[in-house]
Amino acid sequence: FNVPKAINEPVKSYAPGTPEREQVLAAYRKMWNEQIDVPLYIGSEEIRTGNTQNMSAPHDHQHIVGKYHLAEKSHVEKAIATALEARKRWSKMSWENRAAIFLKAAELIAGPYRAKINAATMIAQSKTIHQAEIDAACELIDFLRFNVEYMSQIYQDQPISDSSVWNRLEHRPLEGFVYAITPFNFTAIAANLPSSAAMMGNVVVWKPSDSQIFSAKVIVDIFKEAGLPDGVINVIYGDPVMVTDTLLASPDFAGLHFTGSTHVFKDLWAKIGTNIHNYKTYPRIVGETGGKDFILAHPSANVKQVATGIVRGAFEFQGQKCSAASRVYIPSSLWPAVKAQLETDVNSMKMGSPEDMSNFFTAVIHEGSFNKLASYIDQAKQDTDAEIILGGGYDKSKGWFIEPTVIVTTNPKYKTMETELFGPVVTIYVYEDSKWTETLELIDTTSEYALTGAVFSTCRYAIEEATIALENSAGNFYVNDKPTGAVVGNQPFGGARASGTNDKAGSMLNLLRWVSPRTIKETF
Ligand code: GLU
Repeated sequence: FNVPKAINEPVKSYAPGTPEREQVLAAYRKMWNEQIDVPLYIGSEEIRTGNTQNMSAPHDHQHIVGKYHLAEKSHVEKAIATALEARKRWSKMSWENRAAIFLKAAELIAGPYRAKINAATMIAQSKTIHQAEIDAACELIDFLRFNVEYMSQIYQDQPISDSSVWNRLEHRPLEGFVYAITPFNFTAIAANLPSSAAMMGNVVVWKPSDSQIFSAKVIVDIFKEAGLPDGVINVIYGDPVMVTDTLLASPDFAGLHFTGSTHVFKDLWAKIGTNIHNYKTYPRIVGETGGKDFILAHPSANVKQVATGIVRGAFEFQGQKCSAASRVYIPSSLWPAVKAQLETDVNSMKMGSPEDMSNFFTAVIHEGSFNKLASYIDQAKQDTDAEIILGGGYDKSKGWFIEPTVIVTTNPKYKTMETELFGPVVTIYVYEDSKWTETLELIDTTSEYALTGAVFSTCRYAIEEATIALENSAGNFYVNDKPTGAVVGNQPFGGARASGTNDKAGSMLNLLRWVSPRTIKETF
């Protein structure tokens, strides 16, 4: 099977009058009132436990869009047993057959389900159509296509043999099941974590974020239609401690594929450590966690580029990206011009419902996030070492709306320079031009995270110095561009330190974590 060379899915424009705009609006209006009822998916069964939780739209939180059913411990145990049963056939199936399923899923999303998966992401994760298109359509399609290509390379890359010895590597799946825990902020990541492990022949129990279940259902339906056999990916929701403790207590737990917060990942790691004597194999632990991502401008930087980098890096996707720019270092010589440009750019951004396609910006995900952001904003209004120069407003009467907010601080260790807020708040520290080297040191030592970062400069020496000095400060480092928006196949994504295990999503490195190779030498 000569797998097609993966290409990135082109981003559609959704300009007025285009068919894709009409289609996605029609899907949005239909799903808005549909009241979907999401069961647990265990093997061939769709289980409705009757113990349900409502789902609402973050930009209109009184509007209920459906409900999902919560698992009890017995359902989690059933999911494990069902996955292990499915493993008997799935793990033996040739990679070409698995490839066919996931390529088909990519085509279903690119074509007939594009409007639906985008609309679901707009409704329950409050993304604008452009944010949804980049995430739920293009990135998800890219993950599937590129992973299939990388998978085919893994299976075909074989050790040296000669006329009397046949050496081979069998990339067997892990001996057990993989537990995938996925975040609300990217539909693509939610689909990628279970599917990349499944692609390599593993069976999965998947727990999506409560705030992403609406679009998770669309993914499950697509995978089924593409021919994914029952029991390969089982989907459960419920009390996270009960679900996790039940799964991690199983001797067949063989891997964790996680995207979410640093403290949850560390707790999971500790629990896995506690259970280590019970497991058949050493579990693979792969996680992408928090970020406190920086932008650094050198005095030689282009002002317009820097301002665009800040606005897009900090405020696109409502700042709800692990990669979002949230601490910025500007030399004092550039600050007046950067500030003026930021005022123009931020004041031109429209905020509101995703259904109005002229909005650049929508609501944050839920009340917890809203309250956290509002409290940091309130604190900044009082602190003498911080000043809010743009935004600072919030309104929860209809949706969880936080204005894009720019804080300027005189304290490079101010709390919003260090703490991940996961929302549309960016903090700027203005440094003396003569303190370039000290600022590099400051960036490296201010945060426990190391996910993304960007340097803006037109000076080659400065670019080189920053690239070397910040080599451990970001797993994805950008020069003269915002620190967000990694494209599958172009910028493999992931960070180290408290940001994760850096197993680059959508890469061969990541897929290799989901296999346990056997070497076979045969002499003849
Ligand atoms: N891959 C995304 C980016 O490059 C961020 C993913 C995340 O927020 O976890 O912006």
